[in-house]
Amino acid sequence: MHIMVCVKQVPDTTEVKMDPKTNTLDRSSASAIINPYDAHAVEEAVRLRKEYGGKVSVISMGPPQAQEVIKKCIEMGADEGYLLSDRTFAGSDTLATSFIISMGIKKVMEKDPVDLVLCGKQAIDGDTAQVGPGIACRLGFPQLTYVEKIESLDLEKNHITVHRKIDSGFEVVRSSLPCLITVEKSINEISYSPLPDMIKAARYRPAVWGIGDFQSDPAQIGLKGSPTSVRSIFPPPQRSGGEILKGSNREVAKKLVDNLKGGILRWQS
Ligand SMILES: Cc1cc2nc3c(=O)[nH]c(=O)nc-3n(C[C@H](O)[C@H](O)[C@H](O)COP(=O)(O)OP(=O)(O)OC[C@H]3O[C@@H](n4cnc5c(N)ncnc54)[C@H](O)[C@@H]3O)c2cc1C
Repeated sequence: MHIMVCVKQVPDTTEVKMDPKTNTLDRSSASAIINPYDAHAVEEAVRLRKEYGGKVSVISMGPPQAQEVIKKCIEMGADEGYLLSDRTFAGSDTLATSFIISMGIKKVMEKDPVDLVLCGKQAIDGDTAQVGPGIACRLGFPQLTYVEKIESLDLEKNHITVHRKIDSGFEVVRSSLPCLITVEKSINEISYSPLPDMIKAARYRPAVWGIGDFQSDPAQIGLKGSPTSVRSIFPPPQRSGGEILKGSNREVAKKLVDNLKGGILRWQS
């Protein structure tokens, strides 16, 4: 079984700051990490390989430094990695990103068919959750999103059964293979990497493919292939602190009722 995991390098949003003048992310303020949802996808792929055999590949689109996330995946137990990196890819929206990644996966599939594609549920910077479904559409694969458990995989009957998170709980869904799955963090716990995989990762160099390495329509790539554009980005307004009412119980109750009435009047006007 060949599992392909899509991994994105993202700024660590626990550290990232906004530039108040330009209203853009100050990327230099944060270190780059593997998108946390994608780390869980890699962990799940490695778990499935241990149970069913086969190979785990990872693919990422990004600048040259994104090879660090591929190395991280090798450390986590992935077998090989591909980086899609080219100046013409810059400015890609989710439509163009899913197109480029699907072209990369198709190129891998020419030599080595893929049975399962795993993605994170969403990236913690873009947050759209559109790229996984976009890749599935372009590959012509069924898609199972928000998966929190892979219940079973039947390689003879060629199907997979999963639990999908829904508002009221979960639903159990079966799909034929190949298919694409996007995973929740709750799908597994990330384990520590063994020393041999850490050594392998330190020496590993992924294959790097640019625009010339696969047949693609330039009109579907980068800014040209991106019908959406980010007009501005800004942090939510800071919430003012709450008011502590002081006085006797009667006084506090009266002030509270007055405040509530005032709020309702402001809301109605
Ligand atoms: C320089 C720059 C310019 C941009 N310009 C625009 C723009 O003009 N308009 C616009 O709409 N957006 C723009 N973006 C944002 C861009 O669209 C998103 O970063 C990208 O499409 C991924 O979307 P997302 O972060 O919402 O991923 P999601 O859809 O939330 O990601 C879901 C999953 O898809 C996979 N995935 C996502 N991205 C990648 C990747 N790069 N490599 C491998 N797997 C991946 C991962 O498994 C991830 O967990 C720009 C980004 C950059 C860096």
